[in-house]
Order: sequence, then C-alpha cells, then structure tokens
Amino acid sequence: MLHRLSAIALSCLCLTAYAEGPHWTYEGKHGPAHWAELDKSFSECKLGHAQSPIDIRGAKRKADAPDLGFAYQAAPLAIINNGHTVQVNGAGSGTLTIGGHAYTLAQLHFHTPSEERIRGKAYDLVAHLVHKDEAGKLAVVAVLFKAGHENAALKTVFDNMPVGAGPEHKVESVQFNPADLLPAKHGYYHFQGSLTTPPCSEGVAWYVLKTPVEASRAQIGLLHKLYKHNARPVQPLNGREVIEHL
Ligand SMILES: [Zn+2]
Repeated sequence: MLHRLSAIALSCLCLTAYAEGPHWTYEGKHGPAHWAELDKSFSECKLGHAQSPIDIRGAKRKADAPDLGFAYQAAPLAIINNGHTVQVNGAGSGTLTIGGHAYTLAQLHFHTPSEERIRGKAYDLVAHLVHKDEAGKLAVVAVLFKAGHENAALKTVFDNMPVGAGPEHKVESVQFNPADLLPAKHGYYHFQGSLTTPPCSEGVAWYVLKTPVEASRAQIGLLHKLYKHNARPVQPLNGREVIEHL
C-alpha cells in the first residue's frame, strides 16, 4: 500500500501538468496549514504522523549506517517551472544505491529557504533529489546551500530556468550532471518522512547531506525572483529516530 501510494505521489510530483489538481500555495488560505482541507487526497498533510520536513536534532550516530552510492551521468537538461518550484527531470540520468538497494533518479527541484533545519538553523536553499525504486518507493537526498561562491552546476540550471510556469523545456544543447550539485563528502542524516508538498504521502526515506555546498547571493536571488518562499514549515518528529551517518 505504501509503495503504491509512493508511486502515485511521484507521478503527481513530476508528471502532472503545471496547472492540474487542486490549487495550493505556501501562504494564505491555500497555504500549508490548510492543505488537508483543499482536497480529500491531501488528508495525510494533516493526519500523517511521519511528515517532512523536520528540524534535525538529537540524531543517533551510527558507524554502520550504509554509504550513499551515487552513479549519476550527464544528460540533456530537461527543466520545468511547475508553479511551485523549478524542477530538473532526470529520468534515466543516474542511480543511487543504499545498502545494495537501487533507486533511479526521477527529478530534482529546489526550495528556498531550505525546508529542513539542522538544530533550528535553516539554509538559504535546498535541492531535493528524488529517487524511486522498482516498487515505487521513494528516497530523497537533500543538498543544502549556503551563501558563498557561485555554483557552476546551479548556473547551468538557473541560466535555463523558465520564468513562468509551463510545460517541460528540453535544452538539447546543454548537458547537466546532477553529480555536480553534490558536496565532496556524503555523510548524512536519515529519517522516515513524507513528500513535503501535497498529497504529503508518507513512506519516503530521507537522506539530508550534512555538508552544505555554496551558491552566490545573486544565484539565490534568481530563485527568489520566481519563488520567494516555497518551503513547508517543519513538522513534529513524533518519536521518529534520526540517524547520523559518520
Ligand atoms: Zn522538495
């Protein structure tokens, strides 16, 4: 059931047209506090007990937590402004292996500020790399960004960012490798959570990389021009265990 839900959620996340489905936003009467009221299928946004994002604190250090095995490759950039975020569709552009379990990269997208907090601190920006296994189960890797030097991989994405919501735009002349967004170290915080957008489906395995990467203030400003604030507030932990990979 969980797997089926995840598969449905993923198709909502990356395949639905930008204008389809109930209207939801990040503020006001269609904002996060009201998502569950907007549509029956959004009820988990309110009733769920393992929701994302969270404020990461009190993590349990675990020496034998599995490493993240990234095997991404360059592909022509396929990008969409879906009305909630800017998303790079990456079907087939790589795999993530965790403890021998393989996931395929489906898409990556951005939130500003970061949705996840670490001991109360939010970062300027976060990229969510959404992966799916054969059964439809999701694993999301979060890459945090702090203000600093210009980020070349982000420049490739943002230079081709559609300013208005619309269908996917494929830029055949531009190669993009998601690996270029990753920090050098892949240590992470891990917990079970949900999609951070409606329908807030649970059963999502989260891996928040501990090492942030940098983006320039100008780059962060570019995303702010389109989406000033597209981050769901942190959700109660409800006794979930957070594991820290060393
Ligand atoms: Zn996200």
